[in-house]
Amino acid sequence: MADCLFCKIIAGEIPSTKIYEDEWVYAFADIDPQAPFHAIIVPKIHIASAEEITADNSGYIAKIFEAVAKIAAKENLADGFRVVNNCGKDGGQTVGHIHFHLLARRYLQWPPG
Ligand code: 5GP
Ligand code: ZN
Repeated sequence: MADCLFCKIIAGEIPSTKIYEDEWVYAFADIDPQAPFHAIIVPKIHIASAEEITADNSGYIAKIFEAVAKIAAKENLADGFRVVNNCGKDGGQTVGHIHFHLLARRYLQWPPG
């Protein structure tokens, strides 16, 4: 998608710090980290939000969670972590390309604010 920030990051048109990449998924360091470890994981196709997940594209979401497990192993997140998807206005979504926050290396309060 021409005007999408995360599509531009995936394409390398906007620089990012790569954490993990495969055929389906790209993960990079969040520019404004909310924990000592904060990755953003995105599918390499434009899906606007969790509302847009369908039987045709849900394989990418499965690949994201496979990437979570690989990143957790590679980065030694054995104490635990949180995966967050913000959806829509009340969910706090600010970028219109579905993404999953992977937060770790501090105790994460529950419930979130
Ligand atoms: P949301 O609020 O939509 O769930 O998450 C968007 C996330 O993207 C935020 O945590 C924000 O810090 C991050 N972000 C926004 N713009 C950029 C950018 O240009 N580069 C990187 N690495 N992260 C970004
Ligand atoms: Zn996009």
